[in-house]
Amino acid sequence: MLALLTRKVRGLTGRLQSKLDGAVQRYKQARTVRRTVAPYPSTIYLAVNTRCGFACKMCDVGTNQYDTQFYKIMSLSKDKPRERLALDRLKTLVDEVKDFKPMVAATSTEPLLYKDIIPLCDYVVGNGLQMLVTTAGLQLEKYAEELVRVGVQHLWVSIDGPPEIHNDIRGVKDSFQKSVAGIRAVDDWKRRLGRDYPKIGINYALSNYNYHCLEAFMAAVHPLPVGQITFSHMNYVTAGTAETHNARFGHLYPATVSSVSSADPTKVDVAVLWDQINLVKTRYPGRVAFGPDLDRKGLEDFYFHPEVFVRGDRCYVP
Ligand code: SF4
Repeated sequence: MLALLTRKVRGLTGRLQSKLDGAVQRYKQARTVRRTVAPYPSTIYLAVNTRCGFACKMCDVGTNQYDTQFYKIMSLSKDKPRERLALDRLKTLVDEVKDFKPMVAATSTEPLLYKDIIPLCDYVVGNGLQMLVTTAGLQLEKYAEELVRVGVQHLWVSIDGPPEIHNDIRGVKDSFQKSVAGIRAVDDWKRRLGRDYPKIGINYALSNYNYHCLEAFMAAVHPLPVGQITFSHMNYVTAGTAETHNARFGHLYPATVSSVSSADPTKVDVAVLWDQINLVKTRYPGRVAFGPDLDRKGLEDFYFHPEVFVRGDRCYVP
């Protein structure tokens, strides 16, 4: 009797041990996979063409800074200023990625100057993916009906100040008024077709040309049928930052100056900007967002000490 009981206990212990070993093994494998396999991208950004039609003061594209990384990242080249991606290639790309359901974002250079933008949006939405279009707005009124009809879900319009400041920065007369007319036309078509989409947002690129007029801008755009309004600090790369980067990583990923040929971060009066930020946050709660949302010291570091990592965030690649 005792021998039988001992055998049963040994058998049970063996089975438990084997289950435990299996569980530990599976946990270790899962942990390894989590550490070594990158997740699928949640958004795929497309630079569909190389044209924009603007001459924005703060932008390397608008000021023809051919040798800067931003100009090159936009796939632009001095010799081929009118390139665009083939629709068939973009459709194939959608086919390749659709199983992991990313959002597809046509953000540059000016998607509404891409002749196949509507067929592209149609294909993306038709394959069950979310489509985002960013535009500087000049052609928005013309495309309003089609963008609503094909079911684009997200539309971001770039406006960088109240009318006179925006038009001056962009170098195109009445561009503020054209963007506003486009936003109203999209909203009108949403009502006429009984659609909830696209959700419309405005993005404001903060620079030394417009850091002082956030409140005046909000007063001008507040009545518009847009959801979120985001103020984005520009991604400057100064000569000092590029030099420091290149000393360590130049053999892998050389950097150049960026967004400083005409814009100058050190001309931003941080005290004035801080007041403006607090003013619009207080007057328009829940409607404004900042990228990144910096505190007073973070602003000082961002504009005057580019060697300091703001908010402790940094990229560890490479
Ligand atoms: S900010 Fe956009 S619209 Fe303006 S010049 Fe640069 S790429 Fe063109």
